[in-house]
Formats: sequence, C-alpha cells, structure tokens
Amino acid sequence: MKVAVVGSSHGGFETVRGVLHDFPNAEIDWYEKGDFVSFLSCGIELYLQNVVKDVNSVSYATIDGMEAKGVHVHINSEVASINPAEHSIKVVDVNNGQTTESKYDKLVLSVGAVPFELPVPGKELGNIYAMRGRDWAILLKQAEVNPDIKNVTVIGSGYIGIEAAESFAKAGKKVTIIDQNPTILGTYLDPEFTDILTTELVDNGLSVKNDQSVKEFIGNDKGMVSGVITTTGETIPTDLVIEAAGIRPATEWLKDTVKLDNHGLIVTDEYQETSQPDIFAVGDATEIEFAPTGTKKLIALAPNARKQGRSAAYNLMEKRRKTTAVSGSSALHVYSYKFASTGLKDVTAKQMNLDVASVYITDTKVPPFVPAEDNAKVYFKLTYDPRTREVMGAQIMSKMDVTANINAISLAIQQHMTIDDLAYADFFFQPGFDRPWSVMNIAAQKAQDQLAK
Ligand code: FAD
Repeated sequence: MKVAVVGSSHGGFETVRGVLHDFPNAEIDWYEKGDFVSFLSCGIELYLQNVVKDVNSVSYATIDGMEAKGVHVHINSEVASINPAEHSIKVVDVNNGQTTESKYDKLVLSVGAVPFELPVPGKELGNIYAMRGRDWAILLKQAEVNPDIKNVTVIGSGYIGIEAAESFAKAGKKVTIIDQNPTILGTYLDPEFTDILTTELVDNGLSVKNDQSVKEFIGNDKGMVSGVITTTGETIPTDLVIEAAGIRPATEWLKDTVKLDNHGLIVTDEYQETSQPDIFAVGDATEIEFAPTGTKKLIALAPNARKQGRSAAYNLMEKRRKTTAVSGSSALHVYSYKFASTGLKDVTAKQMNLDVASVYITDTKVPPFVPAEDNAKVYFKLTYDPRTREVMGAQIMSKMDVTANINAISLAIQQHMTIDDLAYADFFFQPGFDRPWSVMNIAAQKAQDQLAK
C-alpha cells in the first residue's frame, strides 16, 4: 500500500507514526511545503521566553530520523491538486515551481490552518506578524530582541494572543492587547477567572482593551506599521502588530475535490474519511466530536489532531474505530496564575444556546493549616446539565499547579458521569498534595444542593 500524508505538524506526524505502526510494509510519502518537518507551534512561547534555546528543537521528528524508518520525506513540496479518480497528486517544488505527479492508494490530509488576517486598511504594512509555524517563530524572536520595537499590539486574547503578549512584555516591550469580546480568553474561562487574569496582566504593565477591534493600521514613511486605530477611535502607537485573531483552514485548493463546510473545514466521517473514498483528513482543517454535546465542531488543539491522525492511520484499510469525542481541554499560565478548562463554560454555553448550571467555589489547594508558601487559593467552577445532571465542563485556576483536576473532569465528561457520581468519586488525600475532599467533590456536592433547592 502506498500512503501519502500531506502536512507535517501534529496531525501529519501522528498519521505517519500510526501507519508505520499499523502497516509496517506500507510505502509512505510525507509532504511538507515548508523547509522543516514537524514544527510544533505550541513550543513558540517557550522559545520566545528563552526556555527553549534552539528553534529547530521544537519538533517531534527529523528528516533523517523519519527516513531511517523508511519514510520518504519531501520538504519544500506543496501538494497543489488531487485527482481522486486517478489516485494521484500534483506536487510543486516551492523553490523552483517544478511539478511532479505521484500516485497513492490512501491519502491523508493534515493541512491545518493559517492565521486569520484582519481585512482592514493598512494590512499590507510591514511588521504585522502572526504566531504560527517556524518562520513566524524566527521573525518574532528577532523582533523581540530588536531595540527599535518598543510598542507591541496583540490582536486577539485567546491563548495564542496571551502567550505572545506575555512573552513580549517579559522582553521589556510595552504591550497592548485588543479583543472584540468583553473579556480576555473568552473561549476558555468565565469572568470569575478572567477578571483576576486581566488584573494580573495590568499589574504586570500590559494594557488590555476589550469590546473593541481594529479599524485601521497606520504606517510610517518606511511602510512599517506605526499605529493601530481601534473601533473606539483610539490610536495606539505600535512598532509591531501580532495578529492572533483566529485561524482559517488551508483548504481553498481542495474545494472542488472534497466536501468542505461553510467555514472551509473538510467534512469527514467518524473514521476521518472525507467525501472521497481513500482520502482522509485530520487536524485543524476538520471538525471533531465535542463530548459534552455530541456535536461536531472545530477545536484547534494538538491532542485532537493527534487522536484524529491515529484514527485515520488505523482506519485506512477498514473502518475499525471511531475517533474518540473530546472535551476541548486546555491549560495555560498568565504570569503567576496557572489555569485549565474543559468542556462547556457559562460563556460558551450561552453562545451555543445551551441551558447549563454552574457552581463556583474557592478553596485552598491543601488544608488551611499548611503555611502559605506551600499552599495557594484555588478557584474552581463546575458546569453541569440541570436536567440530566451530567457533568458538562470545569475551569480551575491557582498560583500552584492544580490543572490536572481538569483531566479528571474531562474523563467524567467523556464517560457521561453526573454530578452525583462526581460528588462521591474517590480521590487521594495527603496534606502535601490535596484536601480530604477534592475540590471536584466539593463542587459536585454543592451542585447537588443547588438542584435540591
Ligand atoms: P498545522 O499545525 O496547521 O500544520 C499543517 C502543516 O501542513 C504545516 O506545516 C503546513 O506547512 C503544511 N501544509 C499545509 N498545506 C500543505 C500542502 N498543500 N502541501 C504540503 N504541506 C502543506 N494546541 C494544544 O493542544 N496545546 C498548546 O499548547 C497549543 N499551543 C499553540 C500555540 C500556538 C502559537 C499555535 C499557533 C497553536 C497552538 N496549538 C496548541 C494548536 C496546535 O498547534 C494545532 O492544533 C495543531 O498544530 C494542528 O495540527 P495540524 O496537523 O492540523 O496542522
């Protein structure tokens, strides 16, 4: 069997790994249009903050390592079109424009997404950057150490925007964050958490501007951005813009080949097969089943791309296992706070018109008798369906690392557990680690009381 895999980030890498495991005799062609394989954008923040020194180490695979496993790795190779009837692809060498044709028996697309560019006047000015992929990582690093760049405006306050903002602020830049939503991190947290995190950013010298967007980028006589005019009419002096205002799937070239939805996402079945037999798709260019609702949506996270890649490889010859539904769990730090969330929040449930209930508690990580230097306040919110009592989501935050609780809640969501299951679920206790009743038990017990009233 000849398998072609397009894209070398999380989804493509996992697919190749899966094919090597499940079909050791398959011939694998792995195509990447960039000049590097398996760059992991999730490592950019660590690179910008000097935790990781070498940009090339932010990867799971090397060309030599994969070729040693028998994979034919093709970098600088853009797959430009597919002929499903012939089972062939056209591949363009991005360095010289030469086109070659290659056959496949099975084709897996993990073409991912590209940063959304704001369609506003001045968008063509210099020093308007994005944060995705190795090329941008290198440019961002150069900007970070460039003394001429003093004022940085970050557009969008999802986790990518917050990572960019914190990195540049720590590098001594004056950072402004703009977001059209009423709070930062609106997909991940409710206001009980984002109010505290906004204060944390402001206390560290950042400026946060919610409920507004960008009207225009203005430039200087060198064609570089020099300011951002917001929709409230304010002009923010700016030497560098980092756009983190969402992504769009890199699927324009596929619109006449496989079925795309209204957002350009590739439509697949639960086995990752597209509308064309023998063509599979995974990762940020596709949707995945969201466990709390059982519906499909785009949740652009690495573990999702990995699960789908594993699933595509396993199902290449025969539909054997559906891709697991996910809860959409993620974690991040904002200066001294570490938070994680999963499933539905009040804010996202409202956007989806879903009727949920929540309980919010604060506690200490370990018993109150443990001194402050080994203890910290914990903020926790549990969201559930008041009719079925099923656990729907949770958010946690502390100055100590309590984020692992969210993985337990993710499991509870996947297993359709109720607040009654969670209220008395068995968790460990040791005063150096946790409380006799975990914060998850306490919140679920409070939810039971809330429903009993
Ligand atoms: P992508 O990562 O988008 O990669 C697609 C690849 O395909 C690219 O290398 C591209 O060059 C190549 N390609 C595209 N079209 C073609 C073509 N026609 N021919 C050949 N090659 C092609 N997720 C988490 O879970 N945790 C995190 O902490 C986290 N941090 C992140 C931080 C940042 C800054 C960013 C940008 C993302 C982060 N993510 C994180 C999200 C995660 O990186 C993505 O969900 C994941 O990379 C998706 O993988 P993918 O394979 O679908 O696509």
